Amino acid sequence: MIMTMIGDKLQQVQARIVTACTAAGRDPASVRLLAVSKTFPAEAVREARAAGQIAFGENYVQEGVAKIEGLSDLRAGLEWHCIGPLQSNKTRPVAAHFDWVHSIDRLKIAERLAEQRPAELPPLQVCLQVNVDAGANKSGVSPGETLALARAVAALPRLRLRGLMAIPEPVPDFEAQRALFLRAAAVFEEMRGAGLEVDTLSLGMSADLEAAIAAGSTMVRIGTAIFGGRG
Ligand SMILES: *Cc1c(COP(=O)(O)O)cnc(C)c1O
Repeated sequence: MIMTMIGDKLQQVQARIVTACTAAGRDPASVRLLAVSKTFPAEAVREARAAGQIAFGENYVQEGVAKIEGLSDLRAGLEWHCIGPLQSNKTRPVAAHFDWVHSIDRLKIAERLAEQRPAELPPLQVCLQVNVDAGANKSGVSPGETLALARAVAALPRLRLRGLMAIPEPVPDFEAQRALFLRAAAVFEEMRGAGLEVDTLSLGMSADLEAAIAAGSTMVRIGTAIFGGRG
């Protein structure tokens, strides 16, 4: 482990995760940390990797692919997650370079990823993005349509459905944050109740990871608290 500024920040975020899990009566090992490196250079990812971080999230396909290629020497030790909105004309590079996609909100995108995932790679790990505060945040499938989409995506080859992601609009207090996250958790439970083998609830960012963990998040996506502000 090499301790650096990014290394210190990673430790602080891990400590927040442990505190939040303790408060929620959860095992800290049940929450993974995804470091969101969008807008930060490949060198920042290298520094985080040296401090022990493995999973990284990118929003923009072109920027993400450039970073993945620039860090090809570390590829086997990194896990790359595409967390930004996906247009159908951008699915091919995502299928070829990323390990995970969190932002599937329609069948067409999933079908293209399934078709384009290279046969020599392991299945692409995918989450559906659910829109828990309709109107405010336009991306994502509505809660009522999520189960049907989940069934259709789970049936596609070359993809493995892992769960749900949500990005609620920022709200001021803990209870309001938790209430929105709980809507995603309820849809996740509905999927499990329907027999889908999902294990990932991708909820929580720098400002609201505690509320997300209180609502059952298994993966928090943290940018600012690790890499600093994006200006
Ligand atoms: C930017 C981003 C994050 C990280 O947000 P921070 O507030 O910087 O922690 C997480 N998830 C998604 C989808 C993002 O776009």
